[in-house]
Amino acid sequence: SQKLKALLVMGNWKMNGSLAANAKLLADLRTGLAEGVAEASAHFAVCVPAPYLAQVAEALKATEITWGAQDVSARDAGAYTGEVSAAMLKDFACTWVLVGHSERRSMHAEGDELVAEKAKAALIRGVTPVVCVGESLAERDAGQVHEVIAKQLAPVIALGAESLRQMVVAYEPVWAIGTGRTATPEQAQEVHAGIRQALSAAGAPDVKVLYGGSVKSSNAASLFAMPDIDGALVGGASLMADEFLRIGA
Ligand code: PGA
Repeated sequence: SQKLKALLVMGNWKMNGSLAANAKLLADLRTGLAEGVAEASAHFAVCVPAPYLAQVAEALKATEITWGAQDVSARDAGAYTGEVSAAMLKDFACTWVLVGHSERRSMHAEGDELVAEKAKAALIRGVTPVVCVGESLAERDAGQVHEVIAKQLAPVIALGAESLRQMVVAYEPVWAIGTGRTATPEQAQEVHAGIRQALSAAGAPDVKVLYGGSVKSSNAASLFAMPDIDGALVGGASLMADEFLRIGA
């Protein structure tokens, strides 16, 4: 890559996989890394379905690939049927957890305040939250991109500089997720610059800001060439080891 700073390339498997399919994907990731498919300076991570955390932790513990989950409860413990706590994620050595992915915001009615509570719950247990934000196509067409992102980020920023500095932010325009329609590097950079400005004003200029939405090996380099794009959150292309690793090549 053209960048001197280390890239963070994070896979989001979503609700895909099986013990057998994961075993192959994880083995292929290990082999590909060992064969130098990707830049040595790129850091790879995978966010996997919670039932597979033990399998993934075992398969990746001797590698430089880190892992995490795709959601976390805002609660610590107790009568919350179906929820998974940050402490449980920590038990499986998760480095990361996605919070506020657009699929959870839209299909599970997660609001901005809840997303910030989840980020805080993760931080308390030493798991790094990857806070996902992004506008819908209707919001973009209405010229509301910056206000939507600012509204989503506000309760996260309100957690304070010390918390913010321990997070990652992912900008994922909803219209680019799983559609094959990536934001142009310039479109993404414009939003990333706004996010950077907001984080800097809050005392956290060095937070990594990832881009997500139809990232693949053929469009990654031009995105990473932008000054405020520090890596990628990758859905579909993270399910193929070679393609995923080539994003960091
Ligand atoms: P995609 O998903 O790469 O398949 O567009 C990205 C995401 O939702 O994190």
